[in-house]
Amino acid sequence: MQQQTKKNIAIIGGGIMGVTLAYKLAQQGMQIEVYERGDNLGGLAGYMSFDGVRMDRFYHTILSSDTMMQSLMDESGVSDKRHFTATKQGFYDKGKLYDFNTPVDFMLFPPLNLIQRFRLGLQVIYSQFESDWRKMDTVPVDKWLLKVSGRGAYEKVWKPLLRAKFDTTAESVPATYIWSRLRRMMGTRKGVTSKEMMCYLENGYYTVIEGLARKCEAMGVKFHLNTPIEEIVIENGVATGIKLTGNTLPFDAVISTLASPILGAIVPQANAAFRAKLNKQQYLGVMCPMLILKKQLVPYYVVNITDESIPFTAVVETTNLIDPKYVKDYHIVYLPKYLAPDSPIATWSPEQVKTEWMKHFRQMFPNFDERDIVAFIDQRAKYVEPIRPMNTLDDIPEIKTPVERLYMGNTVMIYPDLGNGEAVTRFALKVVDQVIADAPKWAVQSPQSAVQTAIT
Ligand SMILES: Cc1cc2nc3c(=O)[nH]c(=O)nc-3n(C[C@H](O)[C@H](O)[C@H](O)COP(=O)(O)OP(=O)(O)OC[C@H]3O[C@@H](n4cnc5c(N)ncnc54)[C@H](O)[C@@H]3O)c2cc1C
Repeated sequence: MQQQTKKNIAIIGGGIMGVTLAYKLAQQGMQIEVYERGDNLGGLAGYMSFDGVRMDRFYHTILSSDTMMQSLMDESGVSDKRHFTATKQGFYDKGKLYDFNTPVDFMLFPPLNLIQRFRLGLQVIYSQFESDWRKMDTVPVDKWLLKVSGRGAYEKVWKPLLRAKFDTTAESVPATYIWSRLRRMMGTRKGVTSKEMMCYLENGYYTVIEGLARKCEAMGVKFHLNTPIEEIVIENGVATGIKLTGNTLPFDAVISTLASPILGAIVPQANAAFRAKLNKQQYLGVMCPMLILKKQLVPYYVVNITDESIPFTAVVETTNLIDPKYVKDYHIVYLPKYLAPDSPIATWSPEQVKTEWMKHFRQMFPNFDERDIVAFIDQRAKYVEPIRPMNTLDDIPEIKTPVERLYMGNTVMIYPDLGNGEAVTRFALKVVDQVIADAPKWAVQSPQSAVQTAIT
């Protein structure tokens, strides 16, 4: 039997990263408190309530190939609420909707000619054989796509998809992004003709977060909601606690899961180079209104839109994945637009968004009876997708920050993986490994850390 000091750790942020860290560290015998600014856990993967039903605040799905998320669902006891469905994707081009799922669909995609279709299919296959992502990080995405897909397929398919995901920042994106996305997409299929297998949880993604939080509480983790941390206390280069409503709470270590600039703003005592690195990280935001409908709009989970005059870049109808019986037979549609940091749309009022979005919705779906729209709900977020221009790998922060006993984990750091629950939870394991490796070296500082625990 080995004696180890039970360390007292503050985790800032109660999104997927924060809750996974709490769960895994508590399993290792650490004493954990999670501080979350919002009135619920979940962060970007949190929920909103409508007509007594819990719905994802932003559309969220888990892929069949997301093995870490699948295990967390099993461990948190919510796997009986999990359902797998084969979903379809569509493409909207010049007023028409097309199937857009498999390399075979790509090869039959009517807006492209025969050669363009063939080259598009080839791009998907080609990406499966590329493995050196560091090399790809130095190649502009358009150059990489043009080489295999050619100009026609690039202009009609890739360019609108890049605009949809990166807004006006698309030009600085390295090839790594599309490569990573294509590999993730193909990982959910069994063959070139099969459809994408996705999974959803009854009552939304929050179900797994709630399940994990319950497990955490059973291990003694404390969650503090509506508790924004104002400052991380740093004394002589060491993080010694957090500041909350002016009071200092001592901890053996602090782990931040905040977006980099949010962390930058609460570490005034950290060295200037570290703060500058955090503050310079840019993020795309998202404007993602929800429509609650009485009937189905389209038969696809997601429809990508090529028309640049339409402000939203996709139609995501999650009830083509989720059985509507779990959401009072409503049909839920999200109309997202990712926003560059300087996008004026980020400042639009909910009324402005509704007017502009609905104008284009009517144009796209002239036959949809507006009496079937039950609600239009404004949803937006500022720090969503880190912008990682080419050749900036050195700007990615380390888990172990220059401040002793201050650790960090956020979506900037999971590169080249995409910002999704699977990658976030996998990254949480790396943070846990680092913290567990360092913990025995932390000198006992706070009274709380005097608690001794036995680990067999
Ligand atoms: C439109 C959209 C669709 C998506 N679709 C999918 C999908 O289908 N599948 C998938 O796997 N992923 C999807 N994602 C990505 C997924 O939501 C994110 O990768 C994940 O939620 C990031 O989790 P996180 O814990 O790192 O960050 P966050 O969720 O941002 O959590 C950070 C937390 O910190 C809190 N916080 C901020 N400041 C403070 C402070 N001062 N004190 C205390 N707390 C603070 C915030 O309130 C927040 O809860 C989607 C995201 C969006 C926006």
